[in-house]
Amino acid sequence: MAEGEILHDLIEADRWLERVRQQREHLPEQEELDRVEESLRVRVLEVRETEEALARARQAYDEQAERAEKLRYRHRELERVLHQSSGARDLVAIETEVHSVARQCDEADERGLDLLAQVEDLEVAVQLQRHEVQPDLDRRRELREAVTALRWSLGEEAERLATERASLSERLSAALREHYERARGRAGVAGGAFVVDGRCDGCRLALSPLDLDRFRRRGADEVVECPSCGRILVS
Ligand SMILES: [Zn+2]
Repeated sequence: MAEGEILHDLIEADRWLERVRQQREHLPEQEELDRVEESLRVRVLEVRETEEALARARQAYDEQAERAEKLRYRHRELERVLHQSSGARDLVAIETEVHSVARQCDEADERGLDLLAQVEDLEVAVQLQRHEVQPDLDRRRELREAVTALRWSLGEEAERLATERASLSERLSAALREHYERARGRAGVAGGAFVVDGRCDGCRLALSPLDLDRFRRRGADEVVECPSCGRILVS
């Protein structure tokens, strides 16, 4: 294979390699995943806050139920004492306490019902929020799988192209290879470009008639660079 042909294939391999790398870095699936994750961050936080509020309400309800139970026990005890009591003075004092404890029992029950209603409201809210967040959670899982698979296959493709371009580069003479790699380092993507319709297709510069003439008349081993981007020009 003539050096011109190797150069030709090397430029194409380098361009493909760049395209694959760009594709890998700018996956539309990754961009969608970023958006889904951003929206989920806020909403998952909301679900967590509601879950925490629910846990607090359940605890408050349990504590209240325990208090009410203690009061009821105290009430039963007092009534038992009341029935057994004989002294008139004791009786009045105990009766007063029985009424007081009975009122506290009613208050505790009422408060317990309020807390139970709060627990039930929060349970519904948690269910609702979890339900609303679920489609995004499913989409996130799909996108994560897609991104992983795409990155992997594009990575494989990039590796294959890198091997191909390395073996092409090795087949150039040392001087031309060095020239090409230097131009590639400077201009990026590929160290050479094609002349299409009188333009360097690396940087889109229209070559002057003089440069075009030099390019067309170049000798077999002569290297002509694009005056703008410095890439080796190839037909
Ligand atoms: Zn150029």
